[in-house]
Amino acid sequence: PVGEGPGVSPARVSALRTEAEALYLGTRPKTRAAAGAAAHLFQGVPMHWMVDWSTPVPLVVAHASGARLTDVDGNGYDDFCLGDTAALFGHGPPPVADALTRQARAGLATMLPSPDAAIVGDLLNARFGLPYWQIATTASDANRFALRAARAATGRPRILIFDGAYHGAVDETFVELGPDGRARNAEGLLGETRDLTALTRVIPFNDLAALEAALADRSVACVITEPVLTNCAMVLPQPGFHAALREITRRTGTLLLIDETHTLSSGPGGYTGKYGLEPDLFVVGKAIAGGIPASVWGMSAEVAERFTRARASLPEGRSGMGTTLSGSPLQLAAMRATLEQVATDDAYAHMNALADRLESGLSAVLSEARLPWHVARCGARVEVVRAPRPLLTGGEAHAAHFAELEATIHLALLVRGVLISPFHDMMLCSPATQDAQVDRLIAATADVVRRLVG
Ligand code: PMP
Repeated sequence: PVGEGPGVSPARVSALRTEAEALYLGTRPKTRAAAGAAAHLFQGVPMHWMVDWSTPVPLVVAHASGARLTDVDGNGYDDFCLGDTAALFGHGPPPVADALTRQARAGLATMLPSPDAAIVGDLLNARFGLPYWQIATTASDANRFALRAARAATGRPRILIFDGAYHGAVDETFVELGPDGRARNAEGLLGETRDLTALTRVIPFNDLAALEAALADRSVACVITEPVLTNCAMVLPQPGFHAALREITRRTGTLLLIDETHTLSSGPGGYTGKYGLEPDLFVVGKAIAGGIPASVWGMSAEVAERFTRARASLPEGRSGMGTTLSGSPLQLAAMRATLEQVATDDAYAHMNALADRLESGLSAVLSEARLPWHVARCGARVEVVRAPRPLLTGGEAHAAHFAELEATIHLALLVRGVLISPFHDMMLCSPATQDAQVDRLIAATADVVRRLVG
Protein backbone atom coordinates (compact mmCIF):
# COMPACT_ATOMS: atom_id res chain seq x y z
CA PRO A 1 0.00 0.00 0.00
CA VAL A 2 1.05 3.61 -0.50
CA GLY A 3 0.89 5.80 2.57
CA GLU A 4 2.16 5.48 6.08
CA GLY A 5 0.46 2.57 7.77
CA PRO A 6 -0.78 2.40 11.34
CA GLY A 7 0.96 4.17 14.20
CA VAL A 8 2.47 7.16 12.37
CA SER A 9 0.94 10.38 11.08
CA PRO A 10 1.16 11.42 7.41
CA ALA A 11 2.23 14.92 8.44
CA ARG A 12 5.19 13.62 10.42
CA VAL A 13 6.28 11.33 7.59
CA SER A 14 6.16 14.13 5.09
CA ALA A 15 8.02 16.55 7.38
CA LEU A 16 10.77 14.00 8.00
CA ARG A 17 11.08 13.29 4.28
CA THR A 18 11.32 16.97 3.37
CA GLU A 19 13.98 17.54 5.99
CA ALA A 20 16.00 14.47 4.96
CA GLU A 21 15.86 15.42 1.27
CA ALA A 22 17.05 18.92 1.97
CA LEU A 23 19.89 17.61 4.11
CA TYR A 24 20.85 15.02 1.50
CA LEU A 25 20.96 17.49 -1.38
CA GLY A 26 22.34 20.40 0.62
CA THR A 27 25.41 18.53 1.84
CA ARG A 28 26.29 16.55 -1.28
CA PRO A 29 27.40 18.82 -4.14
CA LYS A 30 29.54 16.15 -5.80
CA THR A 31 26.75 13.59 -5.60
CA ARG A 32 24.42 16.07 -7.31
CA ALA A 33 27.03 16.85 -9.96
CA ALA A 34 27.59 13.13 -10.60
CA ALA A 35 23.88 12.68 -11.27
CA GLY A 36 23.97 15.52 -13.79
CA ALA A 37 27.08 14.10 -15.49
CA ALA A 38 25.69 10.63 -16.27
CA ALA A 39 24.02 11.84 -19.45
CA HIS A 40 24.68 8.72 -21.52
CA LEU A 41 23.45 6.18 -19.08
CA PHE A 42 19.79 5.37 -19.45
CA GLN A 43 18.05 7.17 -16.59
CA GLY A 44 21.50 8.28 -15.42
CA VAL A 45 22.48 4.96 -13.82
CA PRO A 46 24.24 1.76 -14.93
CA MET A 47 21.19 -0.31 -13.93
CA HIS A 48 17.73 1.21 -13.90
CA TRP A 49 16.81 -0.11 -10.41
CA MET A 50 19.36 2.28 -8.96
CA VAL A 51 16.94 5.18 -9.34
CA ASP A 52 14.44 3.35 -7.14
CA TRP A 53 16.33 4.03 -3.90
CA SER A 54 14.91 6.61 -1.51
CA THR A 55 17.48 9.29 -2.42
CA PRO A 56 16.49 12.28 -4.62
CA VAL A 57 19.58 11.55 -6.75
CA PRO A 58 21.63 8.33 -6.55
CA LEU A 59 24.23 7.97 -3.84
CA VAL A 60 27.55 7.54 -5.66
CA VAL A 61 29.88 5.29 -3.69
CA ALA A 62 33.55 6.16 -3.98
CA HIS A 63 34.80 3.43 -1.68
CA ALA A 64 33.45 0.32 -0.01
CA SER A 65 35.45 -1.69 2.45
CA GLY A 66 34.36 -4.10 5.17
CA ALA A 67 30.98 -2.76 6.31
CA ARG A 68 31.73 0.89 5.53
CA LEU A 69 30.96 3.02 2.49
CA THR A 70 32.22 6.47 1.58
CA ASP A 71 30.35 8.59 -0.97
CA VAL A 72 31.94 10.98 -3.49
CA ASP A 73 31.37 13.86 -1.07
CA GLY A 74 33.37 12.10 1.62
CA ASN A 75 30.43 11.10 3.83
CA GLY A 76 30.85 7.75 5.58
CA TYR A 77 28.09 5.17 6.11
CA ASP A 78 27.64 2.02 8.15
CA ASP A 79 26.48 -0.38 5.48
CA PHE A 80 23.75 -2.83 6.51
CA CYS A 81 22.50 -3.27 2.94
CA LEU A 82 25.74 -4.94 1.90
CA GLY A 83 24.83 -4.97 -1.76
CA ASP A 84 21.54 -6.70 -0.92
CA THR A 85 23.52 -9.77 0.26
CA ALA A 86 26.18 -9.77 -2.47
CA ALA A 87 28.54 -8.38 0.19
CA LEU A 88 27.15 -10.49 3.04
CA PHE A 89 30.76 -11.19 4.05
CA GLY A 90 31.77 -7.53 3.83
CA HIS A 91 33.09 -5.48 0.92
CA GLY A 92 36.25 -6.90 -0.58
CA PRO A 93 37.18 -9.54 2.03
CA PRO A 94 41.02 -9.61 1.97
CA PRO A 95 41.33 -13.34 1.03
CA VAL A 96 39.03 -12.73 -1.95
CA ALA A 97 40.91 -9.60 -2.97
CA ASP A 98 44.20 -11.56 -2.80
CA ALA A 99 42.77 -14.46 -4.81
CA LEU A 100 41.45 -12.09 -7.47
CA THR A 101 44.79 -10.32 -7.77
CA ARG A 102 46.62 -13.64 -8.10
CA GLN A 103 44.15 -15.01 -10.62
CA ALA A 104 44.19 -11.84 -12.72
CA ARG A 105 47.80 -12.70 -13.56
CA ALA A 106 46.99 -16.34 -14.29
CA GLY A 107 43.98 -16.04 -16.58
CA LEU A 108 40.46 -14.72 -16.08
CA ALA A 109 38.33 -16.46 -18.69
CA THR A 110 39.46 -19.60 -20.49
CA MET A 111 36.26 -21.64 -20.89
CA LEU A 112 38.23 -24.49 -19.29
CA PRO A 113 38.59 -25.67 -15.68
CA SER A 114 41.37 -24.32 -13.49
CA PRO A 115 42.97 -26.37 -10.68
CA ASP A 116 40.56 -24.68 -8.25
CA ALA A 117 37.57 -26.33 -9.97
CA ALA A 118 37.79 -29.75 -8.30
CA ILE A 119 38.51 -28.15 -4.93
CA VAL A 120 35.46 -25.91 -5.22
CA GLY A 121 33.31 -28.93 -6.05
CA ASP A 122 34.54 -30.67 -2.90
CA LEU A 123 33.97 -27.55 -0.79
CA LEU A 124 30.39 -27.17 -2.07
CA ASN A 125 29.65 -30.83 -1.43
CA ALA A 126 31.06 -30.65 2.10
CA ARG A 127 29.21 -27.45 2.94
CA PHE A 128 25.79 -27.95 1.36
CA GLY A 129 25.54 -31.73 1.11
CA LEU A 130 24.56 -32.27 -2.53
CA PRO A 131 27.00 -34.34 -4.59
CA TYR A 132 27.04 -32.61 -8.02
CA TRP A 133 27.56 -28.92 -8.78
CA GLN A 134 27.64 -26.44 -11.62
CA ILE A 135 28.85 -22.86 -11.61
CA ALA A 136 26.83 -20.04 -13.14
CA THR A 137 27.25 -16.28 -13.04
CA THR A 138 24.12 -14.95 -11.31
CA ALA A 139 21.59 -16.51 -8.98
CA SER A 140 19.01 -15.74 -11.66
CA ASP A 141 20.93 -17.91 -14.11
CA ALA A 142 21.47 -20.69 -11.58
CA ASN A 143 17.73 -20.81 -10.89
CA ARG A 144 16.95 -20.82 -14.59
CA PHE A 145 19.34 -23.71 -15.25
CA ALA A 146 18.21 -25.67 -12.20
CA LEU A 147 14.58 -25.33 -13.29
CA ARG A 148 15.51 -26.55 -16.73
CA ALA A 149 17.35 -29.50 -15.21
CA ALA A 150 14.22 -30.26 -13.16
CA ARG A 151 12.06 -30.29 -16.27
CA ALA A 152 14.61 -32.41 -18.13
CA ALA A 153 14.81 -34.89 -15.26
CA THR A 154 11.04 -35.23 -14.76
CA GLY A 155 9.71 -34.58 -18.24
CA ARG A 156 7.01 -32.45 -16.59
CA PRO A 157 6.09 -29.00 -17.92
CA ARG A 158 5.13 -26.92 -14.88
CA ILE A 159 6.80 -25.26 -11.92
CA LEU A 160 5.31 -24.00 -8.67
CA ILE A 161 6.32 -20.89 -6.76
CA PHE A 162 5.06 -19.22 -3.60
CA ASP A 163 3.31 -15.88 -3.84
CA GLY A 164 5.64 -13.01 -2.94
CA ALA A 165 8.81 -14.95 -3.76
CA TYR A 166 11.63 -13.52 -5.86
CA HIS A 167 14.15 -15.75 -7.58
CA GLY A 168 15.84 -13.25 -9.89
CA ALA A 169 15.26 -12.31 -13.50
CA VAL A 170 13.71 -15.69 -14.33
CA ASP A 171 10.74 -15.05 -16.62
CA GLU A 172 8.65 -17.99 -15.51
CA THR A 173 8.75 -17.01 -11.83
CA PHE A 174 7.02 -13.64 -12.34
CA VAL A 175 3.60 -14.94 -11.38
CA GLU A 176 1.61 -13.78 -8.36
CA LEU A 177 -1.79 -14.08 -6.75
CA GLY A 178 -4.10 -11.17 -7.58
CA PRO A 179 -6.58 -9.68 -5.11
CA ASP A 180 -9.16 -12.22 -6.33
CA GLY A 181 -6.82 -15.05 -5.29
CA ARG A 182 -6.17 -16.05 -8.91
CA ALA A 183 -2.75 -16.38 -10.53
CA ARG A 184 -1.66 -13.59 -12.87
CA ASN A 185 1.53 -12.23 -14.43
CA ALA A 186 3.30 -10.08 -11.81
CA GLU A 187 2.26 -6.44 -11.94
CA GLY A 188 4.91 -4.12 -13.35
CA LEU A 189 6.54 -6.85 -15.42
CA LEU A 190 7.96 -5.13 -18.46
CA GLY A 191 7.71 -6.49 -21.99
CA GLU A 192 6.13 -9.77 -21.02
CA THR A 193 3.47 -10.60 -23.56
CA ARG A 194 3.05 -14.26 -22.63
CA ASP A 195 0.63 -15.66 -20.10
CA LEU A 196 3.13 -17.05 -17.60
CA THR A 197 0.40 -18.74 -15.58
CA ALA A 198 0.15 -21.40 -18.28
CA LEU A 199 3.21 -23.18 -16.89
CA THR A 200 3.71 -21.61 -13.46
CA ARG A 201 1.44 -22.30 -10.52
CA VAL A 202 1.44 -19.97 -7.52
CA ILE A 203 0.09 -20.57 -4.05
CA PRO A 204 0.45 -18.86 -0.65
CA PHE A 205 3.52 -19.72 1.43
CA ASN A 206 2.76 -21.89 4.48
CA ASP A 207 -0.43 -23.23 2.81
CA LEU A 208 -0.09 -27.03 2.75
CA ALA A 209 -3.63 -27.69 1.53
CA ALA A 210 -2.98 -25.49 -1.50
CA LEU A 211 0.31 -27.32 -2.04
CA GLU A 212 -1.39 -30.73 -2.01
CA ALA A 213 -3.97 -29.50 -4.51
CA ALA A 214 -1.43 -27.86 -6.82
CA LEU A 215 0.81 -30.94 -7.05
CA ALA A 216 -1.94 -33.56 -7.23
CA ASP A 217 -2.08 -33.89 -11.02
CA ARG A 218 1.68 -34.58 -11.13
CA SER A 219 2.35 -32.10 -13.90
CA VAL A 220 4.67 -29.94 -11.77
CA ALA A 221 8.36 -30.66 -12.32
CA CYS A 222 9.62 -28.60 -9.43
CA VAL A 223 8.70 -26.44 -6.48
CA ILE A 224 11.12 -23.53 -6.18
CA THR A 225 11.29 -21.69 -2.88
CA GLU A 226 13.44 -19.80 -0.46
CA PRO A 227 13.37 -21.50 2.96
CA VAL A 228 12.20 -18.14 4.36
CA LEU A 229 10.62 -15.59 2.02
CA THR A 230 13.04 -12.66 2.16
CA ASN A 231 12.10 -10.58 -0.83
CA CYS A 232 8.81 -9.28 0.47
CA ALA A 233 8.77 -8.47 4.16
CA MET A 234 10.28 -11.51 5.86
CA VAL A 235 7.91 -14.50 6.02
CA LEU A 236 9.10 -17.39 8.18
CA PRO A 237 7.93 -20.97 7.68
CA GLN A 238 5.40 -22.28 10.17
CA PRO A 239 6.64 -25.17 12.34
CA GLY A 240 6.47 -28.34 10.24
CA PHE A 241 6.14 -26.51 6.94
CA HIS A 242 9.44 -27.68 5.47
CA ALA A 243 8.95 -31.28 6.55
CA ALA A 244 5.49 -31.32 4.96
CA LEU A 245 6.76 -29.59 1.82
CA ARG A 246 9.37 -32.31 1.43
CA GLU A 247 6.90 -35.10 2.10
CA ILE A 248 4.30 -33.82 -0.37
CA THR A 249 6.85 -33.10 -3.10
CA ARG A 250 8.35 -36.59 -2.72
CA ARG A 251 4.97 -38.29 -2.72
CA THR A 252 3.95 -36.54 -5.95
CA GLY A 253 7.30 -37.05 -7.68
CA THR A 254 7.92 -33.30 -7.68
CA LEU A 255 11.46 -32.03 -7.29
CA LEU A 256 12.29 -29.46 -4.61
CA LEU A 257 14.59 -26.57 -5.46
CA ILE A 258 15.78 -24.57 -2.45
CA ASP A 259 17.10 -21.12 -3.33
CA GLU A 260 19.48 -20.04 -0.56
CA THR A 261 20.70 -16.84 -2.18
CA HIS A 262 19.50 -14.74 0.78
CA THR A 263 19.11 -17.36 3.50
CA LEU A 264 22.82 -18.07 3.31
CA SER A 265 22.61 -15.62 6.22
CA SER A 266 21.40 -18.59 8.35
CA GLY A 267 24.75 -20.28 8.78
CA PRO A 268 27.70 -21.80 6.91
CA GLY A 269 25.46 -24.39 5.20
CA GLY A 270 22.56 -22.00 4.74
CA TYR A 271 19.11 -22.68 6.14
CA THR A 272 19.36 -26.14 4.55
CA GLY A 273 22.39 -27.00 6.66
CA LYS A 274 21.00 -25.47 9.82
CA TYR A 275 17.61 -27.19 9.67
CA GLY A 276 18.44 -30.33 7.72
CA LEU A 277 16.34 -29.68 4.62
CA GLU A 278 16.73 -32.25 1.85
CA PRO A 279 16.46 -30.43 -1.47
CA ASP A 280 16.84 -32.16 -4.85
CA LEU A 281 18.23 -28.98 -6.33
CA PHE A 282 19.99 -26.15 -4.53
CA VAL A 283 20.90 -22.64 -5.63
CA VAL A 284 23.00 -19.93 -4.09
CA GLY A 285 24.43 -16.81 -5.69
CA LYS A 286 25.40 -13.27 -4.71
CA ALA A 287 27.81 -13.72 -1.77
CA ILE A 288 29.07 -17.18 -2.66
CA ALA A 289 32.21 -15.78 -4.30
CA GLY A 290 32.59 -12.80 -1.98
CA GLY A 291 30.85 -10.34 -4.26
CA ILE A 292 32.12 -11.13 -7.74
CA PRO A 293 29.49 -12.42 -10.18
CA ALA A 294 29.16 -16.13 -9.48
CA SER A 295 26.50 -18.58 -8.44
CA VAL A 296 26.18 -22.33 -8.03
CA TRP A 297 23.51 -24.92 -8.47
CA GLY A 298 23.69 -28.40 -7.02
CA MET A 299 21.87 -31.64 -7.77
CA SER A 300 21.16 -34.82 -5.87
CA ALA A 301 22.64 -38.01 -7.30
CA GLU A 302 19.21 -39.02 -8.56
CA VAL A 303 18.55 -35.73 -10.35
CA ALA A 304 22.03 -35.83 -11.85
CA GLU A 305 21.43 -39.31 -13.18
CA ARG A 306 18.05 -38.45 -14.66
CA PHE A 307 19.48 -35.26 -16.16
CA THR A 308 22.33 -37.21 -17.73
CA ARG A 309 19.88 -39.70 -19.21
CA ALA A 310 17.71 -36.90 -20.58
CA ARG A 311 20.75 -35.32 -22.24
CA ALA A 312 21.87 -38.61 -23.72
CA SER A 313 18.44 -39.18 -25.23
CA LEU A 314 18.62 -35.97 -27.26
CA PRO A 315 20.36 -35.34 -30.56
CA GLU A 316 23.43 -33.12 -30.25
CA GLY A 317 22.64 -29.43 -29.96
CA ARG A 318 22.50 -26.48 -27.62
CA SER A 319 21.41 -27.36 -24.11
CA GLY A 320 20.04 -23.89 -23.47
CA MET A 321 22.08 -23.72 -20.27
CA GLY A 322 25.34 -22.13 -19.22
CA THR A 323 27.00 -18.87 -20.24
CA THR A 324 30.50 -18.20 -21.55
CA LEU A 325 31.95 -16.70 -18.37
CA SER A 326 30.48 -19.34 -16.07
CA GLY A 327 32.92 -21.63 -14.33
CA SER A 328 35.73 -19.19 -15.06
CA PRO A 329 39.07 -19.30 -13.24
CA LEU A 330 38.18 -15.91 -11.77
CA GLN A 331 34.96 -17.21 -10.23
CA LEU A 332 36.61 -20.37 -8.97
CA ALA A 333 39.45 -18.48 -7.30
CA ALA A 334 37.06 -16.10 -5.54
CA MET A 335 34.71 -18.91 -4.53
CA ARG A 336 37.50 -21.03 -3.13
CA ALA A 337 38.78 -18.10 -1.06
CA THR A 338 35.27 -17.34 0.19
CA LEU A 339 34.49 -20.93 1.14
CA GLU A 340 37.87 -21.70 2.69
CA GLN A 341 38.72 -18.44 4.42
CA VAL A 342 35.78 -16.04 4.60
CA ALA A 343 32.43 -17.77 5.20
CA THR A 344 33.81 -19.65 8.20
CA ASP A 345 32.14 -20.85 11.40
CA ASP A 346 33.88 -18.03 13.27
CA ALA A 347 32.62 -15.46 10.80
CA TYR A 348 29.06 -16.70 11.24
CA ALA A 349 29.38 -16.67 15.02
CA HIS A 350 30.32 -12.99 14.84
CA MET A 351 27.52 -12.20 12.35
CA ASN A 352 24.94 -13.93 14.54
CA ALA A 353 26.05 -12.24 17.73
CA LEU A 354 25.73 -8.86 16.06
CA ALA A 355 22.33 -9.75 14.64
CA ASP A 356 21.23 -10.73 18.20
CA ARG A 357 22.33 -7.31 19.38
CA LEU A 358 20.54 -5.60 16.50
CA GLU A 359 17.35 -7.62 16.93
CA SER A 360 17.03 -6.86 20.62
CA GLY A 361 17.96 -3.20 20.19
CA LEU A 362 15.42 -2.63 17.43
CA SER A 363 12.72 -4.59 19.30
CA ALA A 364 13.22 -2.33 22.31
CA VAL A 365 12.90 0.78 20.13
CA LEU A 366 9.65 -0.48 18.60
CA SER A 367 8.07 -1.53 21.86
CA GLU A 368 9.01 1.73 23.56
CA ALA A 369 7.35 3.63 20.70
CA ARG A 370 4.34 1.27 20.88
CA LEU A 371 4.47 0.78 17.12
CA PRO A 372 2.51 -2.21 15.78
CA TRP A 373 5.63 -3.57 14.07
CA HIS A 374 7.98 -6.42 14.86
CA VAL A 375 11.51 -7.60 14.11
CA ALA A 376 11.95 -10.78 12.05
CA ARG A 377 15.17 -12.69 11.85
CA CYS A 378 17.01 -15.18 9.67
CA GLY A 379 20.52 -15.61 11.06
CA ALA A 380 22.55 -12.54 10.13
CA ARG A 381 19.50 -11.01 8.41
CA VAL A 382 17.26 -8.77 10.48
CA GLU A 383 14.12 -7.07 9.27
CA VAL A 384 11.61 -4.60 10.67
CA VAL A 385 8.18 -5.78 9.58
CA ARG A 386 5.22 -3.41 9.69
CA ALA A 387 2.75 -5.83 11.18
CA PRO A 388 2.18 -6.71 14.83
CA ARG A 389 2.73 -10.46 14.42
CA PRO A 390 4.91 -12.73 12.27
CA LEU A 391 3.68 -12.94 8.69
CA LEU A 392 2.27 -16.13 7.18
CA THR A 393 2.10 -15.37 3.47
CA GLY A 394 3.41 -13.11 0.73
CA GLY A 395 -0.03 -11.50 0.63
CA GLU A 396 0.34 -10.46 4.26
CA ALA A 397 3.84 -9.22 3.47
CA HIS A 398 2.49 -7.11 0.63
CA ALA A 399 -0.08 -5.57 2.97
CA ALA A 400 2.73 -4.73 5.42
CA HIS A 401 4.62 -2.54 2.92
CA PHE A 402 4.08 1.20 3.10
CA ALA A 403 6.14 2.72 0.30
CA GLU A 404 6.11 6.36 1.40
CA LEU A 405 6.93 5.54 5.01
CA GLU A 406 9.70 3.13 4.07
CA ALA A 407 11.39 5.52 1.65
CA THR A 408 11.25 8.21 4.33
CA ILE A 409 12.80 5.96 6.96
CA HIS A 410 15.53 4.81 4.58
CA LEU A 411 16.49 8.36 3.60
CA ALA A 412 16.31 9.60 7.20
CA LEU A 413 18.66 6.78 8.21
CA LEU A 414 20.97 7.48 5.31
CA VAL A 415 21.45 11.13 6.23
CA ARG A 416 22.19 9.88 9.77
CA GLY A 417 24.99 7.74 8.33
CA VAL A 418 23.45 4.27 8.04
CA LEU A 419 22.41 2.44 4.91
CA ILE A 420 19.81 -0.33 4.88
CA SER A 421 18.34 -2.32 1.97
CA PRO A 422 16.30 -0.16 -0.37
CA PHE A 423 12.98 -1.92 -0.91
CA HIS A 424 12.14 -3.08 2.59
CA ASP A 425 13.70 -2.66 6.04
CA MET A 426 16.32 -5.37 5.73
CA MET A 427 19.66 -5.25 7.51
CA LEU A 428 22.64 -7.60 7.33
CA CYS A 429 25.54 -8.10 9.71
CA SER A 430 28.82 -9.13 8.09
CA PRO A 431 32.02 -10.52 9.60
CA ALA A 432 33.44 -7.01 9.22
CA THR A 433 30.55 -5.27 11.03
CA GLN A 434 31.37 -3.90 14.49
CA ASP A 435 29.26 -3.57 17.65
CA ALA A 436 29.58 0.21 17.42
CA GLN A 437 28.03 0.17 13.96
CA VAL A 438 25.06 -1.85 15.22
CA ASP A 439 24.67 0.60 18.09
CA ARG A 440 24.70 3.53 15.67
CA LEU A 441 21.97 1.89 13.59
CA ILE A 442 19.84 1.31 16.69
CA ALA A 443 20.36 4.91 17.83
CA ALA A 444 19.54 6.29 14.37
CA THR A 445 16.39 4.15 14.23
CA ALA A 446 15.35 5.37 17.68
CA ASP A 447 15.81 8.96 16.54
CA VAL A 448 13.80 8.41 13.34
CA VAL A 449 11.03 6.58 15.20
CA ARG A 450 10.82 9.43 17.76
CA ARG A 451 10.34 11.84 14.89
CA LEU A 452 7.59 9.67 13.42
CA VAL A 453 5.51 9.06 16.53
CA GLY A 454 6.38 12.07 18.69
N1 PMP B 1 17.20 -15.69 -5.56
C1 PMP B 1 16.91 -14.92 -4.52
C2 PMP B 1 16.29 -15.54 -3.31
C3 PMP B 1 17.17 -13.56 -4.55
O1 PMP B 1 16.87 -12.80 -3.50
C4 PMP B 1 17.74 -13.00 -5.71
C5 PMP B 1 18.05 -11.52 -5.83
N2 PMP B 1 17.50 -10.68 -4.91
C6 PMP B 1 18.05 -13.85 -6.76
C7 PMP B 1 17.76 -15.19 -6.66
C8 PMP B 1 18.68 -13.33 -8.01
O2 PMP B 1 19.96 -12.90 -7.80
P1 PMP B 1 20.72 -12.11 -8.95
O3 PMP B 1 19.96 -10.81 -9.10
O4 PMP B 1 22.09 -11.89 -8.41
O5 PMP B 1 20.67 -12.92 -10.17
